[in-house]
Amino acid sequence: RFPIQRKLKLAQVHKQRKAKRKKLFISRVLAMATNTQDQQSQAGRHQEVGHKSLLQSDALYQYILETSVYPREPEPMKELRKLTAKHPWNLMTTSADEGQFLNMLLKLINAKNTMEIGVYTGYSLLATALAIPDDGKILAMDVNRENYELGLPVIQKAGVAHKIDFKEGPALPVLDQLVEDEKNHGSFDFIFVDADKDNYLNYHKRLIELVKVGGLIGYDNTLWNGSVVAPPDAPLRKYVRYYRDFVMELNKALAVDPRIEICMLPVGDGITLCRRVK
Ligand code: SAM
Ligand code: CA
Repeated sequence: RFPIQRKLKLAQVHKQRKAKRKKLFISRVLAMATNTQDQQSQAGRHQEVGHKSLLQSDALYQYILETSVYPREPEPMKELRKLTAKHPWNLMTTSADEGQFLNMLLKLINAKNTMEIGVYTGYSLLATALAIPDDGKILAMDVNRENYELGLPVIQKAGVAHKIDFKEGPALPVLDQLVEDEKNHGSFDFIFVDADKDNYLNYHKRLIELVKVGGLIGYDNTLWNGSVVAPPDAPLRKYVRYYRDFVMELNKALAVDPRIEICMLPVGDGITLCRRVK
């Protein structure tokens, strides 16, 4: 009896081990498949221009674009988006859903006198120019005129170029000049900041004087590719790591600034709206 019992026991152990190995194998295959899917979706995430999103599901983001953004995107913005897609730095462009958001926001607040720091080929600039009235103004600044001029023909064709006053060069000295003249204080309804992140706090010091009480400043990329919550040893791209601390410092400073009310939205790469209250 003893050897048979032992044989049965061994057979049972063997069966259990086999089942365990099978389970482990299946879970490994599943994990590999999920990782591959994740990697594929991560890789796809920034490949297409304007397909920048913090949403965890690319399919959901695509749904937003296809259902409510692209069908309502004004023809000139579509043209500028497609033209920008061919440019090597197209990762910098404002995404189509954020363009739609800015356009709506500007209309809601009846913005007329506006400013933009960081133009690139002008997608957010065009969204602004199309939203403000015919006698509205945008003071637009960028260190690079070439990229602005790439998109300019589309802006001209849309019949809104007369609203734009483009200044080539760093924005900070222009802001200092504006602040010097008291008549510019509290004169802007809306200011969009989408340039060098290491200067955002310097911009904020000046812009808070220039925006009117009740007006808005929008700081773009305040979630900085999600890196604001990345662990210290996370493998970040060099420029992401470099600007991350500045973005986090800005977010902290805005959160405690009594002169503004704030609202941080996960649109695009994160945009923080600041409404001046005093
Ligand atoms: N808003 C743009 C759009 O919708 O496509 C994207 C702007 S892109 C993210 C940032 C821009 O800021 C670049 O075109 C860059 O040349 C500009 N820039 C960088 N440093 C600047 C500075 N100190 N003053 C003004 N513009 C600057
Ligand atoms: Ca941006």
